Amino acid sequence: MEKTVFKGSFTQQEPIPEAAIEAAVEVMRSGRLHRYNLAPGEAGEVALLEEEFAAFTGANYCLAVASGGYAMSCALRAMGVGHGDKVLSNGFTLAPVPGAIASVGADPVFVETTEALTIDIDDLALKAETSGARVLLLSHMRGHICDMARLMSVCDAAGIDVVEDCAHTMGAEWDGVPSGRHGRVGCYSTQTYKHINSGEGGLIVSDDAELMARAIILSGSYMLYPRHTARPPVDTFENVKLTTPNVSGRMDHLRASILRVQLADLAAQVDRWNALYRTVEEGLRNTPGLKIVERDPRERIVGSSIQFLLPGFSPGEIGAVVEACRLRGVELKWFGAEEPVAFTSRYDSWRYAPAQRLPRTDAILAGLMDMRLPLTFSVSDAGLIAEIIRDEVQSVHRHAAE
Ligand SMILES: *Cc1c(COP(=O)(O)O)cnc(C)c1O
Repeated sequence: MEKTVFKGSFTQQEPIPEAAIEAAVEVMRSGRLHRYNLAPGEAGEVALLEEEFAAFTGANYCLAVASGGYAMSCALRAMGVGHGDKVLSNGFTLAPVPGAIASVGADPVFVETTEALTIDIDDLALKAETSGARVLLLSHMRGHICDMARLMSVCDAAGIDVVEDCAHTMGAEWDGVPSGRHGRVGCYSTQTYKHINSGEGGLIVSDDAELMARAIILSGSYMLYPRHTARPPVDTFENVKLTTPNVSGRMDHLRASILRVQLADLAAQVDRWNALYRTVEEGLRNTPGLKIVERDPRERIVGSSIQFLLPGFSPGEIGAVVEACRLRGVELKWFGAEEPVAFTSRYDSWRYAPAQRLPRTDAILAGLMDMRLPLTFSVSDAGLIAEIIRDEVQSVHRHAAE
């Protein structure tokens, strides 16, 4: 019998909503694209986005910036992280995370990964003691959130400040608290492959007035910071405005205008992602040789991608699964490859960082498969994708057993 082939594209996002396109056209007609270029009495799209995102996360303050990577480096700089400092971070994450640490002259100290694909809190406690780091840049990689109560108690006890990388958890929660609101600062990305899409963009939230005043000056506010509306009180800036450098990385009205419309739709989009996620998850359950990454009931997930493990598969067998799925239109990424491929790289390919060994992370990445779930897929697409993966994993697993 002819094998079924999936025809969708794993990198095709939905179009920008018509209301957002209209809002963007309005901004272009005005000619006022720069965030501080405002008509009398106008708040501007960027400040409005900041207000709305602060409300969405329940944060006191919000700053919109040029990218998620910029958000993280700006947060680190605003906390005073600098040359030669050590910053703890996940061994399993993507390149912008160690890159943000390196961009302020600091050195990443990588922490091991659990089978739930979250940071290993025991290893974190150990390295918090031994590394001399004062800051953890915690990446909720692929949307997997660790036990945040336990993590925060370990970090509080060790005097470690937490910056959350929420590039994959905008709209997600741990135990009823939005992701990004457990640590001192939360950083988000609005790049095309994240949860709201402005091509490039980032957001920072915090309740810390002085830190946010520094972040606003860093982002390139000049002395125009009073025009921000989701900012700390103006007198907070007195201490920082002349001692904080301008490291330009602002957002503009055009991008903010299309993000505001998408932010208002995010809750509905999260439900759609989770319908795809749970369909693939159920379709893969009980496949011999395949291990589901079980989600903690305290997590409110955003299933914009899904991961599963093929423990005990050799690199050759994993290659065979990836190739067989590819021939049937299903794009799987493998985190165990020796060399970085496309978006996928590993801590040992970030050679600007001091060399480190993470044997438990290596063992997990060796069998870790990753797949995007864009909203251009339907629930029946998700069912078909799971069927194809299940078939091909079983077929390689059977051969291996023979
Ligand atoms: C995308 C991403 C970021 C931020 O990326 P930008 O492209 O700079 O917006 C940060 N962390 C992770 C894990 C990411 O995937």
